Amino acid sequence: MAGESYPGFLPPFERFATDAIHVGQEPEQWRSLAVVPPITLTTVFEQRAPGKNERYKYIRCGNPTQDCLEKAAAALDGAKYCLAFSSGMGAILNICHLLKTGDKIVCTVDVYGGARELFEKIKEEFNLKVVYVDCTDLQKLEAAITPETKLVWLESPTNPVLKVIDIQACADVVHRKQKGVLVAVDNSFMSPYFQRPLSLGADICVSSATKYMNGHSDVLLGLVSVNRDDLYERLKSLQIRLGAVPSPFDCYMCNRGLKTLHIRMKLHFHNGLAVAKFLETHPRVEKVIYPGLSSHPQYPVVLKQCTGVSGMVSFYIKGEKENAIAFLKNLKVFTLAFSLGSYESLAEHPATMSHRSMDQDLKNRLGITDTLIRLSVGLEDEEDLIKDLDQALKAAVSEELPPKNNPQPTFSSSQMDPGLWI
Ligand SMILES: *Cc1c(COP(=O)(O)O)cnc(C)c1O
Repeated sequence: MAGESYPGFLPPFERFATDAIHVGQEPEQWRSLAVVPPITLTTVFEQRAPGKNERYKYIRCGNPTQDCLEKAAAALDGAKYCLAFSSGMGAILNICHLLKTGDKIVCTVDVYGGARELFEKIKEEFNLKVVYVDCTDLQKLEAAITPETKLVWLESPTNPVLKVIDIQACADVVHRKQKGVLVAVDNSFMSPYFQRPLSLGADICVSSATKYMNGHSDVLLGLVSVNRDDLYERLKSLQIRLGAVPSPFDCYMCNRGLKTLHIRMKLHFHNGLAVAKFLETHPRVEKVIYPGLSSHPQYPVVLKQCTGVSGMVSFYIKGEKENAIAFLKNLKVFTLAFSLGSYESLAEHPATMSHRSMDQDLKNRLGITDTLIRLSVGLEDEEDLIKDLDQALKAAVSEELPPKNNPQPTFSSSQMDPGLWI
């Protein structure tokens, strides 16, 4: 039962597991008929005659190990093409190079912090315009699209408050208002097992494969999938010229990780849901945010555009910052760490860790308070994860604590930082 279906969600993508295991991996492509693609570390390839155009020339321009990964990843994204980069940020930077001076990026307001910092940096240096919009409000998104708009940047669910955006509706609004605008979706939090942005109308799907796609916290890699030939040609040229290509070793590792993506994602969902349900009923928890719970504000959108959800669970602990810190210090199975999407369970405190450098005002508006905790639920035994959370919650929050009115996340665009809303 590779393609397990979850009630209410989109049905699983056909052939996902078969493609993950076989596409781009054909033994016939090697003289040795190796079933597992070898790691080809060579940087140079012999040319049979001057001027004769051999398939491979120099490692940065394409190599067999990178090809295997790109073919498999394209199949999983439901795409014609995929390009691998040396990191998720490298992938995002390459997409930015599709723009020119004067162009405008319309970006979802609670975008990945690294992407926001990059946009803010290149905005000044290359004289681009960047506006941030709450993309759950389609009218605001539509109003932000002007003739200079060339790229719309979406992410769903967002980090760390797991807000869900209707990708199809956003892509439709953007493309209807203006032809030629590229809609890019950062799919890192979902992986293609649960969400395929290209099939929801996006032009570009970008993933930090460092997270779920590799899934073993041992590779830094970015992937960009597209269907359009022209877009592929431009990105391929940038990939070669900017040089942010991954090493063959990392390509090998990530390609290997993809073979179990479907199995891992199912268990991430299973454990994530179990953890979310447990936390939702826990007296020391203020509020849980999990796109797989019917209490999630955009649950109908989740059902409509996803085949399931990943292991990312966020929650507000009762009390103050000290309680959040005590909880994190008391965890034993969960590791206190940045990053996400791997087999091991991780926990972090966005306010002082991943989102530390974010403007306090914006943090408040996005709901990134001192009591918010982000979990990346891994593949350990469900019972052990729940026991660990329970003991850490008990150690962190005393029974006598009075109920507290925590600020809850609000995404009303009228409350957005005027400095960001050009
Ligand atoms: C980690 C991450 C990135 C950046 O990817 P790297 O591989 O670390 O460069 C981009 N977007 C999201 C949503 C991420 O979680």
